[in-house]
Amino acid sequence: MTTVRTRFAPSPTGFLHLGSARTALFAWAFARRHRGTFILRIEDTDVERSTQEAVQAIFDAMSWLGLDYDEGPFFQIQRMDRYRAVIDEMLARGLAYHCYTSPQELDALRAAQMARGEKPRYDGRWRPENIAANGLTPPPGVKPVVRFRNPDEGSVVWNDAVKGTIEIANAELDDLIVARSDGTPTYNFCVVVDDLDTRITHVVRGDDHVNNTPRQINMILALGAAVPSYAHLPTVLGDDGHKLSKRHGAVSVMQYEEEGFLPEALINFLARLGWAHGDDEVFTRDELVAWFDIAHVNPAPARFDADKLRWLNHEHMKRLAADELGRRLQPFLERAGLDLANGPPVEEVAMLLRDRTPTLVEMADAAHYFYATPHVPAEKLAEFVTAGNRPALVELYEVFATLPWSRESIGAALKSGATKHGLKPPQIMMALRMIVTGTRETPAIDAVLAPLGRDATRARMKAGLDL
Ligand code: GLU
Repeated sequence: MTTVRTRFAPSPTGFLHLGSARTALFAWAFARRHRGTFILRIEDTDVERSTQEAVQAIFDAMSWLGLDYDEGPFFQIQRMDRYRAVIDEMLARGLAYHCYTSPQELDALRAAQMARGEKPRYDGRWRPENIAANGLTPPPGVKPVVRFRNPDEGSVVWNDAVKGTIEIANAELDDLIVARSDGTPTYNFCVVVDDLDTRITHVVRGDDHVNNTPRQINMILALGAAVPSYAHLPTVLGDDGHKLSKRHGAVSVMQYEEEGFLPEALINFLARLGWAHGDDEVFTRDELVAWFDIAHVNPAPARFDADKLRWLNHEHMKRLAADELGRRLQPFLERAGLDLANGPPVEEVAMLLRDRTPTLVEMADAAHYFYATPHVPAEKLAEFVTAGNRPALVELYEVFATLPWSRESIGAALKSGATKHGLKPPQIMMALRMIVTGTRETPAIDAVLAPLGRDATRARMKAGLDL
């Protein structure tokens, strides 16, 4: 049995889009599922649009997502000699020929065809066998393009792993330019040479490439090579049904990292864009690899659902072990400029906040008061600390000085303090919460004060109660 070899072949012209990341993931998962080889190829022949930053963005996103590759990265720009050699070979074997048709002639041809109600296509006038009949001689000083001689008869058929059988009549295809007049090879041709040279067995890519496939297959057949299998993945749409774009918010993979999403969650989310394993919604990378079957990719467009991503992220955060969750949270706290030595261990805080915060950014926001004394405006405090509960709070400040410091004893002290002053526990808890954290949204206050510590708690009470 041949070993599976897949590739991801992004063009480095911007950030790595979620749709491209989904393509990368499916090609990767397919290779891993079959213990095959996954190859990274950077399609950077468009020198005007390709940038080094975009190449780096691809590396960063793949490494963050954990999409490891076994071969590459190969850069097309470094393979120009190889492409030229294949073009020479095709010319020598009569698979391609020089064409001198000028842009003006092509325009005139197109206009005449359209006037006759025909589909515009190059008419093969410079095919060697037609030159004499057409009375053509190479115009002096003109550098020709090279065209691939597409078959005239029959059709190209492939059984797409996602879309089923696709058949395109060769009459629909004209002789593709494989090298421009300056000698540079064109896109579809480079893809063919690379796929053959890297012995790709399965091409997994977005369905915006379906129209290129028959042309590529014809070149592969002409070169006498084996045609790989193709799987064209459905488009990813935004929640409004339009093609996913910046209008829908973040579409760059790395922006999700910045916004506090876990790579595990993004992988899980991307996997569900067009693929499913029964009713399983939350799964790991290993489960994906074990279950992935390209035949189960749904050909209908996939829809991006931002709420679902948040939900998945929360689920994956809840699945992390305490120390790991703390490790993931730490950079977000550091980014916020907090001094982590000035508060409880990060993993304790993370576990405390875990059920309330679906992203690491939200968790870091919610963790602020553990590492920095909040500034609570006096008017705000006055809404919570009243003549009614102040004596109880002052007394608690004293009690806390010697209380064995644990969640249980703090909880008990709050209850007995309230009872003693004829109050209900919430009447002092909310005030204490505001004094110590500056917010109403915290976990149970005894659970907050325990890790915050006696000294920080009392220092904040002293300031808040003006003692
Ligand atoms: N470079 C193409 C893209 O970014 C992919 C080409 C291919 O996978 O064949 O869409």
